Amino acid sequence: MSFTSVPEDQLEKLQVLLDKPKRLAIVSHFNPDGDAIGSSLGLMHVLRSAGHTVNVVMPNTPATFLDWLPGRKELLCFDASPDASASTIRTSDILFCLDFNRLDRIGALEQAARKAPLKVLIDHHQDPDDFADASFSDISASSTCQMVYDIVKGLGLSGSIGSDAATCLYTGLVTDSGSFRYRSTTPHTMRVAADLMERGVDIDHVHGAIMDTNSEDRLKLLGYTLSEGMTVHHELCTAVLALSKEQLARFNFQAGDTEGFVNYGLSIMGMRLSAFFVERPDLVKISLRSKGDLPVDRFLKEHFNGGGHANAAGGRSELSLQATVDRFMALLPAFLDAHPV
Ligand code: 5GP
Ligand code: MN
Repeated sequence: MSFTSVPEDQLEKLQVLLDKPKRLAIVSHFNPDGDAIGSSLGLMHVLRSAGHTVNVVMPNTPATFLDWLPGRKELLCFDASPDASASTIRTSDILFCLDFNRLDRIGALEQAARKAPLKVLIDHHQDPDDFADASFSDISASSTCQMVYDIVKGLGLSGSIGSDAATCLYTGLVTDSGSFRYRSTTPHTMRVAADLMERGVDIDHVHGAIMDTNSEDRLKLLGYTLSEGMTVHHELCTAVLALSKEQLARFNFQAGDTEGFVNYGLSIMGMRLSAFFVERPDLVKISLRSKGDLPVDRFLKEHFNGGGHANAAGGRSELSLQATVDRFMALLPAFLDAHPV
């Protein structure tokens, strides 16, 4: 069975930390995705039921397609409320760091987080930094939501997983596993999903809320990206997608609109790698997805100040969009040669 158990020593530390009602803060990474917000709000609901005071803080306002999540309205976002966000983190008894493992992933909240008296890490990305007092790091876990479920169970708090918490945790399971299709999906993932379903998740509603909330502009931007912004390098088994600021503006770009575009490149028959470059105001954001043994997190860590998972990672570049794509193409053959099929 592929179930990875929660480390007992860390669980015991956490149990002691939570032995009486505390003021807790939860933070997740910049540009929070379904797993980041799902795990944060899921844990918030559970720990509130267990008698703690809990606030959730995000470095920036999440994309609107996750606005329906139970508890979403209570999120403090640093871009909208900088002072309240930073002070909530600084003055909490314990800060939970979810779905990221380096403090530079929370942007301007980094300094406040460093001042928090106690930190607990729950994360499934590669190469964790050593900054937490209790640390749960499992790169094989499908999602941070799955880890939160296991830890909550390990703490004996599974009775506190009501339908709101279950809905939040199920959402991260779905979004981080590509709707239960990536290799990180195990029989245990499915059992967690089943248990959450029994706790009241409306599966039809969650999947619809995640998948069927496209704006007309977003869908047209996707069509444009695939027809005008994609180059397929068959000899390298690589699809490259790129969008400039001007192209985004033409489709009235909103945060989150390009989420998932990179996966279309990988859906072309024979592709091992899909790369997506999107021009943001201050940098070029890079997203890579791969199949099989092609560790894109290593590549991005080495060349583009990034990281993530072996088959799904992100990075950034300060060069122009075209210069970034050119640099990527120059580095690509050696990377592919180092990882033959
Ligand atoms: P995405 O391509 O969807 O932005 O991110 C894919 C994965 O890589 C996610 O798990 C995300 O947390 C991680 N990731 C994205 N950008 C960065 C980055 O700049 N640095 C690191 N360390 N991880 C990233
Ligand atoms: Mn995640």
